[in-house]
Amino acid sequence: MTSSRADAQIRADIVEVGRRLYARAYVASNDGNISVRLDGERLITTPKSVSKGFMTPEMMVVVDYGGHKIAGEREPSSELPMHLEIYRNRPDVNGVVHAHPPLATGFAVAGIPLTRAVLAEVITTLGSIPIAEYATPSTSELPEAVRKYIKAHDGLLLANHGAVTCGRDVMAAYYKMETIEHFAKISLVARLLGREHLISRAEVDRLQGLRGMYGIAAPADICTDPSQAAADQATCQVLEAPESRTRLVPDVLEQASRDGEIRLTYRELTALIADAVRHLRD
Ligand SMILES: [Zn+2]
Repeated sequence: MTSSRADAQIRADIVEVGRRLYARAYVASNDGNISVRLDGERLITTPKSVSKGFMTPEMMVVVDYGGHKIAGEREPSSELPMHLEIYRNRPDVNGVVHAHPPLATGFAVAGIPLTRAVLAEVITTLGSIPIAEYATPSTSELPEAVRKYIKAHDGLLLANHGAVTCGRDVMAAYYKMETIEHFAKISLVARLLGREHLISRAEVDRLQGLRGMYGIAAPADICTDPSQAAADQATCQVLEAPESRTRLVPDVLEQASRDGEIRLTYRELTALIADAVRHLRD
């Protein structure tokens, strides 16, 4: 059993995470939910229909792993089954955070996963961030969509919905949510600027090799066989990292290989010329 002091600390941590989610506008209205594994029989979660920015410790609801309420005046979040699915699949996880941070959710709405190797910090902590298929919120579809990726990833985008993260404790899960939103913001700016230099595969291997040094156990390694990622439940990560150091305006070149014709905007053309000149000088 958890001691009352530890219980009070866990409730205080959940209140604090909710406050930060609201302060950073990762949630609007009563959106989002947070949970913590208490022991082998119970977890504690945020109640439904309250703003996560203004919760108090006694509002929390204690439930079992079947989702039945054990203690608390309020009802648990309607997204509780998604949290339960994560705990079932990840014995190493003790905290789960779900929110709708606007930039990451924008990528989830556009159907663009955050799977390119561009930031060392993200490669070390999260690796890639795929999109779990669209599922009607609060139905059994959502845990099923999350199940496909959660063994190999600590953070997911949820198509047309938001994002979910998990960690060894609730603060670790929260910080991963911050990392995802920050990554989404930087990715958006780079794409608006028209260029995205990817980190090479060799460097990605080096960065992931540092995880042990920082005490990072998860997430999974990069897939060497693509069929592993397409399986019913992914056991490795798909991360776009080229063999060579950089790539020139990758989207333009990918399009060219599809239909044999290159169409460039003025900005892409200038970026391409600037890149070519730079390579000539090197
Ligand atoms: Zn949601």
